[in-house]
Amino acid sequence: MTRKIDHDKVKSLVTELLTALGEDPTREGLQETPRRIANFWREFIEYDAGKLDTTFAAVKHNQMVAVTGMKVWSMCEHHMLPFWCDVSIAYIADDKVLGLSKFARIAHKHAHKLTLQEQLVSDIANELKGILGTNDIAVMAKGEHLCMTMRGIKTPHRMISSALSGKFHQAEQRAEFFQIVNSA
Ligand SMILES: [Zn+2]
Repeated sequence: MTRKIDHDKVKSLVTELLTALGEDPTREGLQETPRRIANFWREFIEYDAGKLDTTFAAVKHNQMVAVTGMKVWSMCEHHMLPFWCDVSIAYIADDKVLGLSKFARIAHKHAHKLTLQEQLVSDIANELKGILGTNDIAVMAKGEHLCMTMRGIKTPHRMISSALSGKFHQAEQRAEFFQIVNSA
């Protein structure tokens, strides 16, 4: 299911990139660089999140379950520079609850590609809707993007994006979610 990269092609393109940057790819410090970078992209793109859909019968109905502070690293598709974000997820458990580690797996799965933070939160929300069979899902990410910190405006920041659906559109659930997320 995971995409495969063309490792040899990435290696040769990095060698070309180094040349285009005015470097000598044969100098000692750079000799292994194309291979290391191709290895990184393989690890990043071919990430296997494992099994995602282990659910259990809910003990209590209509209960909010929240997982916060899951830090994931991704790559901005506009600049191919890293960004990280703390992801918080909540849902209203009705029939099914999801195994705790699955939230992190799902977050990492969607972070391991060229994307944007807004897309990442909606990808996570959509995957959870499919697995849990409910629309009552809230996902929030608070992140820092190197394309803003180390280039351009060069300013450390926190970018916040959220995807709320179902009962999380209601003022009470929404407030509870943001209270949990902001106090954690
Ligand atoms: Zn960017």
